[in-house]
Amino acid sequence: MKCGCGGSFEEKIQEIQGIKCNVMVCGSCREIVFTIEQSKIFHKMKQIQDELAKENKKISRVGNSMGITLPAKLKELGYDIGKSLDIRILDSKHLVIELFT
Ligand SMILES: [Zn+2]
Repeated sequence: MKCGCGGSFEEKIQEIQGIKCNVMVCGSCREIVFTIEQSKIFHKMKQIQDELAKENKKISRVGNSMGITLPAKLKELGYDIGKSLDIRILDSKHLVIELFT
């Protein structure tokens, strides 16, 4: 795959609108393009991110623990009841939830 500047595109992971996704980056001019497949994945992730952003989430009580609910749309990414998750602290206000595949 060649860029208009004559450089070659390489697949790389870039953060676009807060989503880490695979894109094609020109090695010379750094122009970023999506393949059709990369574009489909990005738009699906963006849709889910927008849905997550518009919900006003609160921590609820689950027995003596605290719980949060996840939207059913996350099933499209492989999240499901009974799946294993890893939760890590980034700082006092941010958690990372990682799905084991
Ligand atoms: Zn280029």
